Amino acid sequence: MKKIENYINGSLQSNSKKFIPVDDPSKGEKIAEVILSNDEDVEKTINSSSEAFIKWSEVTPLKRSRVLARYKAIIEKNLLELAKIISIEHGKTLEDAKGSVIRGMEVVEFASGIPHLLKGEFSENVGVNIDSWSIRQPLGVTAGITPFNFPAMVPMWMFPISIACGNSFILKPSEKDPSCGLKLAELFSDAGLPDGVFNVLNGDKNVVNSLLGNKKISSISFVGSTPVAKYVYEKSAKAGKRVQSLGGAKNHLIVMPDANIDQAVDGIMGAAFGSAGERCMAVSVAVAVGDIANELLDEVLKQAQTLKVAPWTDEKAQMGPVISREHKNKIIDYINTGVKEGADLKLDGRKINIQGYENGYFLGPTIFDNVKEKMQIYQEEIFGPVLSIVRVKSYEEALKLVNNHPFGNGTSIYTSDGEISRNFTTNCKIGMVGVNVPIPVPMSFHSFGGWKQSLFGDHAMHGMEGVRFYTRLKTVTSRWPKSIKSGPEFIMPRN
Ligand code: NAD
Repeated sequence: MKKIENYINGSLQSNSKKFIPVDDPSKGEKIAEVILSNDEDVEKTINSSSEAFIKWSEVTPLKRSRVLARYKAIIEKNLLELAKIISIEHGKTLEDAKGSVIRGMEVVEFASGIPHLLKGEFSENVGVNIDSWSIRQPLGVTAGITPFNFPAMVPMWMFPISIACGNSFILKPSEKDPSCGLKLAELFSDAGLPDGVFNVLNGDKNVVNSLLGNKKISSISFVGSTPVAKYVYEKSAKAGKRVQSLGGAKNHLIVMPDANIDQAVDGIMGAAFGSAGERCMAVSVAVAVGDIANELLDEVLKQAQTLKVAPWTDEKAQMGPVISREHKNKIIDYINTGVKEGADLKLDGRKINIQGYENGYFLGPTIFDNVKEKMQIYQEEIFGPVLSIVRVKSYEEALKLVNNHPFGNGTSIYTSDGEISRNFTTNCKIGMVGVNVPIPVPMSFHSFGGWKQSLFGDHAMHGMEGVRFYTRLKTVTSRWPKSIKSGPEFIMPRN
């Protein structure tokens, strides 16, 4: 059985003897075991990262950027292998996995511009013969804790920028699909990254707690479910660390009566059922405004019935399994709850059967109509291929729904009316907004992050927000001896 260890100081290693199973969700069987790191593994990792930081922070930004540029080329060369590693342990289709690696690689591309991104500000003569400038310096040892749903892309929102800024980085990947993190680290070493600058520490919540409590770690970046995000934020902030903590979501897509219905249906299909709905930007609520509801439901139902649910090895697969048996059962419980709450179950994915993959964690696309605001299936994140349709009479009612929801990650509106679109982008209380775009995930040179219960902390991820998060601002005010007036000053200096 394959043993998945840690990547410390440039090599695979482990101290702990405790391992837990990693499954192939398509087959529903154990394919590997991942280490639950113990205190010694954690200490060794943090010591290696602390030592590596000292030298790496002295490497010039231009030389760091060249390592990143080489890394980008190596990722491109290994795209298929990385995608396969993801599909085997996560279950998503190969093309979807490839796309997620490319979105991560784009952050490497952005980070390789670091000499430009780190440029500070300079003011000449803030007083007579006195100049002032600001610089951004690295934090030290930074750490990232990531979820199962994007084992390449989400870590890559973090570590390329942190490392480009001159920090060292410890990645704690999800224990459900940990192999991709190790591969990303090995490839970074191949690009010339010095040992210890990027370490990967596997394990579960005990390892997370060790990282949060360790004084040598300067910052924590977290992505995962809201209860854990809130816990990580509070614990890290209390320990005096810089923290950005991204949580769960319930994303609404509003369809106005004047929307292009074909575009709206295509948008809903991909966003609700792509990656089996296990995306933090998945659309789980379609809000049908006015008399478009019946047509919208008919069209979505028609397309959903033909959606190909299959393992990633099938080239025609459009949707794979969910991550685990436990998660599959949780989603089924939500569907049962929706039925009990009185929502109209129009398409039931609970009993799907894929020949040859009977033990896989597959679910079919599921659609509820007439979902109401008070229902549990509306309020909570299901994180599976379950779409709720809510019918409302007006745009104002739709906007209120979006703004009243506790989550604030992404949202989208489909309309042909520029005024409505502008009103929506201005007034919705959500971090990432699409207009006739179903999944408005910002590019690497913009920043990713939600509002409300979807993000705890002050900084979103990647783009300039990432550079600011992974550096500390210093402002220098300077004059030279010949310009110094004699005698002390006892009043606030002024111009
Ligand atoms: P999760 O919260 O269960 O796990 C995330 C990470 O936290 C893992 O590395 C895990 O080992 C660790 N962890 C789990 N329980 C912990 C605990 N009690 N204490 C400390 N650490 C703990 O999330 P998941 O199931 O892996 O991922 C799915 C969730 O992630 C969904 O809620 C999804 O919306 C969210 N997500 C959010 C974003 C975003 O950008 N906002 C992106 C991707 C995923």
